[in-house]
Amino acid sequence: MSRGTKIVATIGPASSDFDTLVRMIRAGVDIVRLNFSHGRAQDHIDRANLVRRAAAECGREVAIMADMQGPKIRVGKFEEGKIVLNNGDRFILDARWGENGELGNQERVGLDYKALPNDVRPGDTLLLNDGLIVLIVERVAGSEIHTIVKVGGDLSNNKGINRMGGGLTAPALTAKDMEDIKTAMTFQADYLAISFPKTATDMEMARQLANIAGEPFGHKPMMIAKIERAEAIPVLQEILDASDGIMVARGDLAVEVGNAAVPALQKRMIRMARDCNKLAITATQMMESMIVNAVPTRAEVSDVANAVLDGTDAVMTSAETAAGKWPVETVEMMSAICVEAERSEYNKLEADFLNVQFTRIDQSIAYGALFTAHHLRVKAIVALTESGSTALWMSRHRVDTPIFALTPSVTTQRKVALYRNVHAYHLTQRGDSSAVLKQAEDLLVANGIVKKGDTIVVTWGEPMGQVGGTNALKIVRVGEFN
Ligand code: PGA
Ligand code: MN
Repeated sequence: MSRGTKIVATIGPASSDFDTLVRMIRAGVDIVRLNFSHGRAQDHIDRANLVRRAAAECGREVAIMADMQGPKIRVGKFEEGKIVLNNGDRFILDARWGENGELGNQERVGLDYKALPNDVRPGDTLLLNDGLIVLIVERVAGSEIHTIVKVGGDLSNNKGINRMGGGLTAPALTAKDMEDIKTAMTFQADYLAISFPKTATDMEMARQLANIAGEPFGHKPMMIAKIERAEAIPVLQEILDASDGIMVARGDLAVEVGNAAVPALQKRMIRMARDCNKLAITATQMMESMIVNAVPTRAEVSDVANAVLDGTDAVMTSAETAAGKWPVETVEMMSAICVEAERSEYNKLEADFLNVQFTRIDQSIAYGALFTAHHLRVKAIVALTESGSTALWMSRHRVDTPIFALTPSVTTQRKVALYRNVHAYHLTQRGDSSAVLKQAEDLLVANGIVKKGDTIVVTWGEPMGQVGGTNALKIVRVGEFN
């Protein structure tokens, strides 16, 4: 009944009270996402504290992911709050409109990104409000982008704009992001998600800023690249190399590359991430209808299950849990879908290792443990780990055996909250290896994971009590220590 796929839940007005958070964590939330596109710095700090308190109440370590707004391009505000665009209407996006406080109207609206007129050409397709409104660029005149409405609809304040095919020059890190990174490091966000990176350099810069901001707290966050720009696709491998993981950010990605291209991209991105020892999160609209309904649609159930089968580390909620009516039920439902989907997964451990050369000792131990566990059909794989890297290697391959990361580091405990099939426990590693192994065994028994007579596979680094590479592997029959 244990679930290997992790759940990232975005919190917001619908879920920022202690009781709801506790219920969500009990229902299965592993990582809480704070969306920096909304709210002030203090709101995020308050929410982070609330998450830590709620997790403590549940006796769990829950990771926090701080998600930067990035250079999301938006229209300005309207006189009436919104307008209705009809097919065939002419409409102007004006970078200078609003400079003197003008508000948008039926003819034109302002833009928060002043360089947009330089980035578009006649014939371009602009998508507003997540692609619900389609504008075709007719001509650009100075600060004005003249368009014809191809698909109309309601357009309200501050809706986002994407250009089909990508090509917008806005830098990935805005001044606001740089401030927000500092804020996120004050509460030691375990994961930092960067929006709209186009290159590996974007991720390297973000990591550098985060590490500098985290320095006074002795903290280095895990870096997640949100793949939501067309330009990121051809350089995905480089972006992966510069990150700890990626988010398949289907909302913005779909409007840039076209809806139909996203499912295949999702599969490719998840595979690429796992193949190079990185993490993958599948995001956006997974349980969308649960914003209002108490049950998901059949299509949503299939979507979550398919992401699990694709090998995602985590599935994510956005408005479902941030602003929806059923935050707790959404998590419960997602969790149940993951458990069921994992049962039908097909295991291809041998094929994963055909022609693979191991390059490191700790990596070889990790894979050796995985092989042994799989073929000996043991109850659990137990990695005594400082940084969690052994558990990461193990978790990149599908086996039915759960992996337990036993670590003295709370940071590592939270970090591995996102790793597929890895469950963390706190273990004070002290003494010689037989004492520590005994302690590990007691902890697993106490938590009902194994019982006397079960076989488990344990990995650790010898000598113990030293930060260093995993180099030992032992097959243990529970209860036969001393
Ligand atoms: P967002 O990113 O929710 O911050 O827009 C996810 C996405 O675009 O899918
Ligand atoms: Mn996005």
